[in-house]
Amino acid sequence: MQSEKLALITGGSRGIGKACALALAKCGYDIALTYQGNTEAANKTIEELKALNVQAKAYKFDVSNKAEVNENIENIIKDFGRIDVLVNNAGITRDDLFIRMDSEKWEAVINTNLNSAYYVTKPVVKVMMKQRIGAIINMSSVVGVYGNIGQANYASAKAGLIGFTKSLAKELGSRNIRVNAIAPGFIATDMTKDLANSEELLKLIPLKRMGTPDDIASAVKFLASETTYITGQVLEVDGGLVI
Ligand code: NAP
Repeated sequence: MQSEKLALITGGSRGIGKACALALAKCGYDIALTYQGNTEAANKTIEELKALNVQAKAYKFDVSNKAEVNENIENIIKDFGRIDVLVNNAGITRDDLFIRMDSEKWEAVINTNLNSAYYVTKPVVKVMMKQRIGAIINMSSVVGVYGNIGQANYASAKAGLIGFTKSLAKELGSRNIRVNAIAPGFIATDMTKDLANSEELLKLIPLKRMGTPDDIASAVKFLASETTYITGQVLEVDGGLVI
């Protein structure tokens, strides 16, 4: 199955990644999504994507494992022949106060949320450079811009993604590859289920609600648009949480 335009979304089986996959499919993109373990969720998302009359395939691998990433990206390129949009979205949290944070929690988050972007983007950029077109969107967080108690590992990884975004934007602009980041605030997904409907949290958000995965998908769709003259930016989508 060769594609006319393909979007690759890591962690595209659930939550924000799934909403991005569906939004881009509605714009006519074929979808390659990745996930780590929840095959049931991935299969359900693939069914929903196929119902939109696009080609869609799920790839199961650990984004923090360089060898697995290389093998799977190679397969995606063989399967679809091109990659127009990459959303580096897969991510985890392992929260703890810094004084109690063991190296396992530190490394798991840095490897899954930051090193993964290096592993995935490297082979994808080679394809985009040959095509002379591409859009890369890195899923950062407001925590990467402003820090957060109990999230030194997560904030470091998400801040790292911002530096990665700006550097690649400068390096790849001449090849017509745009690189941007999104910094979501609190978005209702499995990752934040413990925060759902917290009155304390809602007091901090001018729009008085948590965001939805679709709120983030709208921003991804906008930044993926081939007509956008935007690169190297961090778009905060947080209901005004940080103004
Ligand atoms: P989620 O609902 O927990 O979904 C996470 C996705 O990433 C799943 O598809 C999961 O696959 C995949 N994944 C996790 N670890 C992986 C690994 N090692 N290898 C491959 N895939 C892996 O998370 P979410 O809330 O949608 O968050 C998506 C992104 O947005 C993350 O980068 C997160 O940090 C960022 N973000 C979220 C919020 C928020 O409030 N939710 C705010 C700011 C930023 P399985 O289903 O197989 O586990």
